[in-house]
Amino acid sequence: MIIGVPKEIKNNENRVALTPAGTQELVKNGHTVFVQSMAGAGSGFSDEQYTLAGAQIINNAAEVFAKAEMIIKVKEPIEQEYKLIRKDQLIFTYFHFASYEPLTNAMVESGATCLAYETVERSDRSLPLLIPMSEVAGRMSIQEGAKYLEKPLKGRGILLGGVPGVKPAKVLVLGGGVVGTNAAKIAAGMGADVTIMDINLDRLRYLDDVMPKNVHTMISNDYNVRELVKDHDLIIGGVLIPGAKAPKLITRDMLKTMRPGTVLVDVAVDQGGCIETCKPTTHEDPTFIIDDVVHYCVANMPGAVPYTSTLALTNATLPYAVRLANKGWKKACSESAELRNGLNVVNGDIVYKAVADAFNLPY
Ligand code: NAD
Repeated sequence: MIIGVPKEIKNNENRVALTPAGTQELVKNGHTVFVQSMAGAGSGFSDEQYTLAGAQIINNAAEVFAKAEMIIKVKEPIEQEYKLIRKDQLIFTYFHFASYEPLTNAMVESGATCLAYETVERSDRSLPLLIPMSEVAGRMSIQEGAKYLEKPLKGRGILLGGVPGVKPAKVLVLGGGVVGTNAAKIAAGMGADVTIMDINLDRLRYLDDVMPKNVHTMISNDYNVRELVKDHDLIIGGVLIPGAKAPKLITRDMLKTMRPGTVLVDVAVDQGGCIETCKPTTHEDPTFIIDDVVHYCVANMPGAVPYTSTLALTNATLPYAVRLANKGWKKACSESAELRNGLNVVNGDIVYKAVADAFNLPY
């Protein structure tokens, strides 16, 4: 199969959909890989590394799209890419169709087949191509939180791990899923006193079993959240109710009960956030302050660490890309329910109910 890897052009997107290692794997399987020049630069991969791995470098995006049977990307196509996508082409990337109607309409009109990373789903309902980005964001939330707790950045001026003779900071993690577990692990490693809250008691049992001694668990309800926010220095929002907006666990009135300089990192901001006062921010201007409480609400946290994020994402996507290339999408999807769940648009027809329902389109 002929595979194309364009350079991502969305604002501040430095990830790339295929690494030189992934290129070598596809070439070894007999495929031809065209990579747009500088596509990997933001993640630290040079054109030369791709060439050595067997790719052919192409200077412009239009040519990559024109030559390829399968396009592998990171972010959803943006407007200037719509016209480059053609009938019978397979596009394998994050789409998040339900949040943007013009993209959905453009892909329907193109006649292409769109396999969305975010809906590739295993029988246990886990989402293998979303997990790596939650791992990155969860770990990063503590790194960012620790930074904004510093006094010059308007935090309480407390060191996460304390020192001998001085107590460590208290970290509250809302949601014990992928984000929450990764956040708790890093915070605990830095020596903080950590509490994870979740509504799922079985999940808390598991976390209680595997986490170190400085991680405690507590059932999540309004009463407990209200009590705990009063004396925690760093609070991480990592709750998710699949397919729904995040519940607001921290309300406006709770801010006044927190200590000045408390830091809130709402990782769930991409689903509306679990902190009432959060609104999406960017890496250029990540924080704002309300009632002396620092809010960090960057919606694409993994974008700040493109090297790690690219490797994490491609570790997960490559096996699927190889299967799609080796068998063609029809055979690969007929053999795997997991991959089939990723199909959102087939030859211009919407085949994913939630996408059709979002815009009252035929399904
Ligand atoms: P997950 O499904 O693994 O975990 C969510 C957890 O929240 C579950 O354990 C669930 O039981 C728990 N939960 C649900 N309601 C709760 C409540 N009322 N109180 C406490 N816990 C509750 O999800 P995840 O992969 O950890 O993702 C969490 C959020 O982070 C998602 O919204 C995801 O999109 C987002 N995310 C954001 C970024 C970013 O850059 N900002 C990056 C990756 C993921």
